[in-house]
Amino acid sequence: HAVSRPTRLAGPGRTADGHAVALLANVGDPAGAVAAAEAGAEGIGLFRTEFGYLGRTAPPGVDEQVDAYAQVFAAFPVGRVVIRTLDAGADKPLPFVTAAGEPNPALGVRGLRTSWVHPGILDDQLAAIAQAAASSSAQVWVMAPMVATAEEADAFVDRCAAHGLAQAGVMVEIPAAALRAGDLLDRARFASLGTNDLVQYAMAADRELASLAPLSTPWQPAVLSLVELACAGGRRRDRPVGVCGEAAADPALAPVLVGLGVSSLSMTARALPDVGAVLASVTLDACRSLAAVALASRTADEARAAVRAGLPVLA
Ligand code: PEP
Ligand code: MG
Repeated sequence: HAVSRPTRLAGPGRTADGHAVALLANVGDPAGAVAAAEAGAEGIGLFRTEFGYLGRTAPPGVDEQVDAYAQVFAAFPVGRVVIRTLDAGADKPLPFVTAAGEPNPALGVRGLRTSWVHPGILDDQLAAIAQAAASSSAQVWVMAPMVATAEEADAFVDRCAAHGLAQAGVMVEIPAAALRAGDLLDRARFASLGTNDLVQYAMAADRELASLAPLSTPWQPAVLSLVELACAGGRRRDRPVGVCGEAAADPALAPVLVGLGVSSLSMTARALPDVGAVLASVTLDACRSLAAVALASRTADEARAAVRAGLPVLA
């Protein structure tokens, strides 16, 4: 008979020797936040706010946004909730934000860049997040998508501070940001690696093109080197670096990411039990050895095979 797999996380994320790794959920709407809490997530590591804007002709009003964010915070009264500001453009075009006809939308005005043209949309969103946070006990963190430079990180931190939001961070999903994460983290309080876009931009491989799948994997040693550099930047500034891309949901890759220095993993809620079980089976030292093995590999396939061979729990 079929063995039923656990659907709920057993407890907080820990390696076998007790090193804490926060296991968080990626969600896209308030119902997703409720489901993530039921799945045992310790918090939300990525709340994609695009849902509130898609399929409309104008941005949602502040009151409507406050209501949605308050519902998400209510699902995690004591947890961390990381709200990502609007990530429009590229695969998520919005008529009132993104210009039509960009020749290369993935390299265009997307993510935080849209706030250069439409600063009011970001300010309304930050005002709504701050208002919802004021009547919640959740630890509210805010992060910007598609940050490339230290100036952008500084400007975002200032904009958040103007709204009373102190926990402002950046997504690291552009190779330039990974290479210089220490500079971005001078003032940003945390970084979250968006491995979906980081892979796309590191490998110059459209994330939507299935035919490029052999290139589009976070097991690519070049991508792992970027993760390593971003973690080194975080350590230099004593700032936490997490992962919120699909890479965090791969049970074999999770210990490698921890070994590289990542302190939180945010993923689709259904992946939490498997990732939690693998982490609980390895020590932090073993994670570091697996990371070294992956980094020493020449190809993505070699890295994956070598790491899996070192994880008996996945055999
Ligand atoms: C990513 O790029 O890895 C990420 C988490 O953001 P999105 O998938 O929404 O672009
Ligand atoms: Mg992204």
